[in-house]
Amino acid sequence: MSVEIPKTQKAIIVDYDNGPLQYKDIAVPPIKPNEILVNIKYTGVCHSDYHAWRNDWEETNLKHPLILGHEGAGIVVSMGEDVQGWEIGDYAGVKLINSTCLVCDYCQQGRETACKLQTLHGVTCDGTFQQYCATDAIQAAQLPHDIDLKSVGPILCAGITVYTGLKASEAKPGQWVVISGAAGGLGSLAIQYANCLGLRVIGIDGGKEKGEFIKQLGAEAFIDFTEANDIAKLVMEITKGAGAQAALNVTSSEASIQQSVSYVKPYGTVILIGLPPQAKLSIDVMSTVVDQVTVRGSYVGTKRDTTEAVGFFARGLIKCPIKVVGMTEVGKVFEEMAEGKILGRYVLDTSK
Ligand code: NAD
Ligand code: ZN
Repeated sequence: MSVEIPKTQKAIIVDYDNGPLQYKDIAVPPIKPNEILVNIKYTGVCHSDYHAWRNDWEETNLKHPLILGHEGAGIVVSMGEDVQGWEIGDYAGVKLINSTCLVCDYCQQGRETACKLQTLHGVTCDGTFQQYCATDAIQAAQLPHDIDLKSVGPILCAGITVYTGLKASEAKPGQWVVISGAAGGLGSLAIQYANCLGLRVIGIDGGKEKGEFIKQLGAEAFIDFTEANDIAKLVMEITKGAGAQAALNVTSSEASIQQSVSYVKPYGTVILIGLPPQAKLSIDVMSTVVDQVTVRGSYVGTKRDTTEAVGFFARGLIKCPIKVVGMTEVGKVFEEMAEGKILGRYVLDTSK
């Protein structure tokens, strides 16, 4: 089967840090022997895209001109000569990790997220804010044919990341997890994955509307960070003294991360996911030692985590709360994101 591929396509291009988000006609990229070409139909907009656009993390390998995006969902339209396991017409997901070296110690252990030679869509190579994206056939996510391409995008970064973080917390069914940033792209999925894993959820975010949204998604309790003075005390009250086994921080707020280490119980785990630029965390050594608390970073997920996270979505257990807009609206999406106004995730329709 072969599909007609146009020579040019629409894309959002950024020429330099914080530069204009230009909606342009560009060439459809060529593919390498190990790559597939995915006709991206929809792509989620992650807070990491906002950081990459501005180069908030002072990434030295950032590509320019750059096409952002790493939550792409689409259809395979061509394949390099070395590609195995894919067919034209397959549904594919384009994630943050484009490729890893496959030979280092971490890749050998199936911990390829720590590979030092990884290439990243929307950071070190072009991403999914375009209609045709070339991606490594090994790391691309295989999606079932009946999946809803419009709403699966957010699973490919937000979903994988929070699912992997929740597993890393080792919290057990019936235990409490506090999710800070619960109404955002990652948080709105974290609540649902936590429920799937049998965990009880307290969501933290700001404002009444976000509180209602969080509860609809399955959180048992909401703490408004704009009003709460003592979050640790509130967590103890809500859990009736049981305490929280885990805290998952999915905010881009250093202050929120600092608070996270104050409200897990002894033997609890704090999972750091949100990436506020240049943020530092200061921990009281005595209470961390005596309470035997673990503080752990968690970064996207492996191929295996991807298959599992997509599986929950494909079985209808996770719903992505999305709002669909055209690619030309990405600037407005970033504005709302910076102001903390988004409920769930924006998804870009690449045809507009
Ligand atoms: P988002 O903007 O959709 O959501 C962030 C949420 O945090 C918002 O709802 C906001 O209101 C809330 N918030 C802000 N300050 C808060 C505070 N003090 N307390 C509680 N909530 C607060 O962002 P997102 O796309 O979900 O991404 C969140 C963060 O995770 C970003 O820093 C992003 O770069 C990072 N990220 C990390 C990974 C990883 O692999 N570790 C993967 C994806 C995203
Ligand atoms: Zn992301």
